[in-house]
Amino acid sequence: MSFSQLGLCDPLLKSIKEKGYSSPSPIQQEAIPAILTGRDVLAAAQTGTGKTAGFALPVLQRLAAGPKTKANHVRALILTPTRELAAQVETNIREYKTHLRLKSAVVFGGVGINPQMKILRSGVDVLVATPGRLLDLYQQNAVKFEQLEILVLDEADRMLDMGFIHDIKRILKLLPAQRQSLLFSATFADNVMTLAESITRNPIKLAVTPANTTVEKIEQQLVAVDKSKKIPALTSLIKQQKWQQVLVFSRTKHGANRIAAKLESAGLPSAAIHGNKSQGARTAALKAFKDGSIKVLVATDIAARGIDISELPVVINLDLPNTAADYVHRIGRTGRAGSAGQAWSLVSADELDQLKDIERLIQQLIPRVTLDGFAPNQPLAESKLLPPKKIKKPKKAKNTSSEAAVKPQRTGKSHQRDGKSPQRNNNNPQRNGNNSQRSGKAADNDGQSRPPRRRRVNPQAKRKTVEA
Ligand code: AMP
Repeated sequence: MSFSQLGLCDPLLKSIKEKGYSSPSPIQQEAIPAILTGRDVLAAAQTGTGKTAGFALPVLQRLAAGPKTKANHVRALILTPTRELAAQVETNIREYKTHLRLKSAVVFGGVGINPQMKILRSGVDVLVATPGRLLDLYQQNAVKFEQLEILVLDEADRMLDMGFIHDIKRILKLLPAQRQSLLFSATFADNVMTLAESITRNPIKLAVTPANTTVEKIEQQLVAVDKSKKIPALTSLIKQQKWQQVLVFSRTKHGANRIAAKLESAGLPSAAIHGNKSQGARTAALKAFKDGSIKVLVATDIAARGIDISELPVVINLDLPNTAADYVHRIGRTGRAGSAGQAWSLVSADELDQLKDIERLIQQLIPRVTLDGFAPNQPLAESKLLPPKKIKKPKKAKNTSSEAAVKPQRTGKSHQRDGKSPQRNNNNPQRNGNNSQRSGKAADNDGQSRPPRRRRVNPQAKRKTVEA
């Protein structure tokens, strides 16, 4: 399928060509024609699927045909949970609209409001905003919604996780009832469906599972290590593997700072990004990470969300996230754009419960490997694979049309290993094979043998990792 078959106009096709996209991704194939009809759309799509172009291109096309935007007015509003995502979405929009006479702008907190008020004065066709700053601007009469035609909620699930529900409700009250509403979310959990029902009318529902943001293309490893040894173990691992670009997750902002400082003093150029950092510091850290001047970016879950770094080779969990779904989000940062990625977790004995939850969600035991010199004094107990948790069916949206059926698209790619990672229980060559099912016994650090870990692939269960 080509972009021209989706009904996009020439100026957009030209920009797409300049961006170097040769064919539309699955979510784009579904979302672009659906949005061009003018109907509301509810789409399940994660970062990395090409979802931004999936909504931005048809939104721009619909706006291109409309009236001139009045002072302080906006015609399309895109709400995102984080500043980084807002900036990224607007950058994409800027590129896609190169050959159209449309104006876009981005507004978010953490930076001065006055320049944003000035930009809005002449009216903008597409405004990308985080909810809090948008409300501040509204209160100052800097933005008006009478001309609003299209509302997009990007990463709606994350907005709810981050507690934006009240801001969203406040914003909805300000918008004209007659509008096109588009809601994009990684999951269709109950709370997302409830929100969707209050925002959309008779929506077309789309669900596309990305090829590479679920567990199947990602090589996962687990290193059992004492809590007090995590940072030295991390330093040793990064140096030993000679990784050049590593995203490290920390549960806390304070932890992220500490880790980045320790890595830096160990000779690994690093920076931390989290909500307490100024917008300028976050942007600078991200730029340095992208251009290779720092090797390690240490991020909290919220700060990492929405960062678009394509083909990130390695993600490390210095501590396990509190919720199993966040593990899937975290490791989904790697192996993007069709390339295989690695996800490593440094796990201490006290994190056994989180580990069990994660393994239950992804329906596989994460292979354990040893790191020379870091055998834990407090061993991490063996985990057993528990049956998947029953997932409550989301409430059906009020929609009787045949288009309402969710259309999952799976790539069906099986897990592959390249067997290159060293340290994978060196005593057992069988563990370095090419199979996703491993066999044989592996040796622990103390030389005692333990039963093999099986990698179980259950396509049904994997589908749930996306929706859970
Ligand atoms: P997104 O899921 O919107 O964050 O997009 C992920 C990445 O895929 C971005 O870097 C986009 O520029 C890129 N992308 C989007 N659509 C396509 C496409 N059709 N072909 C190639 N790359 C794309």
